[in-house]
Amino acid sequence: MDLRSCDEEELKKISVSLGEKAFRGKQLFEWIHGKRVRTFEEMTNLSAAFRSKLKEEYEISDITIVEKQVSRKKDTAKYLFALPDGNFIESVWMKYRHGNSVCISSQVGCRMGCTFCASTLTGLTRSLTAGEMLSQIYEIQRETGERVSNVIVMGMGEPLDNYDALTKFIRLVSHEKGICISQRNITVSTCGLVEGIDRLSKEHFQITLAISLHAPNDEIRRKTMPVANRYTIEQIFHACELYFHETGRRISFEYSMIRGVNDREKDAFELAERCQKLLKNGVQCHVNLIPLNEVKERNCARSKDTDVASFKLTLEKCGINVTIRREMGSDIDAACGQLRKRFLDEEVRQ
Ligand code: SAH
Repeated sequence: MDLRSCDEEELKKISVSLGEKAFRGKQLFEWIHGKRVRTFEEMTNLSAAFRSKLKEEYEISDITIVEKQVSRKKDTAKYLFALPDGNFIESVWMKYRHGNSVCISSQVGCRMGCTFCASTLTGLTRSLTAGEMLSQIYEIQRETGERVSNVIVMGMGEPLDNYDALTKFIRLVSHEKGICISQRNITVSTCGLVEGIDRLSKEHFQITLAISLHAPNDEIRRKTMPVANRYTIEQIFHACELYFHETGRRISFEYSMIRGVNDREKDAFELAERCQKLLKNGVQCHVNLIPLNEVKERNCARSKDTDVASFKLTLEKCGINVTIRREMGSDIDAACGQLRKRFLDEEVRQ
């Protein structure tokens, strides 16, 4: 079992089960999440006997950097990590004026099947543990030597399809005795699993919820997102209302712009109308337009820059808060799942 996935209570129980006092669990927590050591040998205030018992029965998840690509401007780096079971995941580090962000994966692969996304090309292999989600941040902070202040769960995988590990991860990453990243600086992006959003509302976290909407209506959404056959936009917006009322956190809508699919003026008006309804119900929201990152295996083209700009203008005229995502790292396989996909393809060819 991976101790990095354990909270303080669990570490206390483990300590007691190995014949130690409960406070040893507190010390373990400080070593693993506060000092972020990777071996039992470094835990110098624990007895050698206790350390060897721990080593016999437990491990601290070991993830290693296989490849790092740095963008020309040096403001983005993409990491490919190997997991102990031979799987690969990727994470992105982004340097902003306000601090450093890390975009992490929540699963190996994904089973949501969005037609424009590279993560889902080979389906879902498995979900990550809370420890494996944390490790991506711990390793990147160690490697860059710079503090990570923001976390985005927007890499490979659908976080709400891995609910228990996700919520455990959020508690651990924001723990005051751990790496202590403020929940207000954590964003979780979902393709819109309604039951998961409802559950998340009740956790009363202070995190930002981002919804991958990518369409103004269900008909268009069903063309690119199979999940749209399970939940309507109406249901998703209802869940967003609940989320806002429970947490007071503004909802973020992600909208990847695909040429000729969702980027027409009437799409912008339809989207604006939906957002206006939310605003009327007192729910603050924000639209983030993302020019599609074209994936070789996928038959989707990115919208023209002029269409992205006029889409934004239409939303603005309707009083909707909107930004175009600054493109970082488009010179380095930075679209979800691209780096891993290329790496696996190369492995097959060799
Ligand atoms: N499964 C989650 C989080 C991972 S995807 C979700 O669906 O939100 C992170 C974001 O990138 C999502 O909004 C996703 O739809 C979008 N995305 C995936 N592939 C993309 C691509 N090729 N170009 C632009 N955005 C993409």
